[in-house]
Amino acid sequence: MATWGLTAHIASPFSALETASTPEGLRVRECPTCGGRWVRSDDYWRWRAHATEPWPTATDDAGFSTHEPEPTAFRFCPEDNYLLTRYQVGPPHSFSIDQCRSCSGIWLDAGEWEALMRGGLAIKLRSILSQAWQDEIRAAPSAESDEERWRGQLALADLERITEIKAWLDRHPKRNHLYAYLRSKDTGH
Ligand SMILES: [Zn+2]
Repeated sequence: MATWGLTAHIASPFSALETASTPEGLRVRECPTCGGRWVRSDDYWRWRAHATEPWPTATDDAGFSTHEPEPTAFRFCPEDNYLLTRYQVGPPHSFSIDQCRSCSGIWLDAGEWEALMRGGLAIKLRSILSQAWQDEIRAAPSAESDEERWRGQLALADLERITEIKAWLDRHPKRNHLYAYLRSKDTGH
């Protein structure tokens, strides 16, 4: 499928991220280039424990979608290089957030924290990242993204493995040879 650009994107290296705070007091590491934010798990929970009422409530029924389609870029943890797991936020929002299953840090693209606040979801990250929430979203009718289609055809573990292999291939100085080798070994079935 031509539209599935499996771009290995190591979210900005941690050293390039700048310490900042959202207006709500969440400590983040911000990428000066793309505006994305890395949220360490302990920073989120510290914010969550001390954030004061009233909680913002959902005001934007139209939902929020990022300006560019997300599913093409696979991200890696800026701290430990693990593949980040993508979680759909779900209708009416059409964006997703990425979490590292190793250190539990969360990557938010530019605008996503604001969207979570607007939707009253910033305090519910634990729920969004839960299996139950994700199962519910999958059961709901929605436009299926390319990535979801692939996920339907490949086990998550396989998808993660092939993504890691692809990332390794693309970084390799002899990647053309490696791809040629793979093609030569693919006898078809
Ligand atoms: Zn991590």
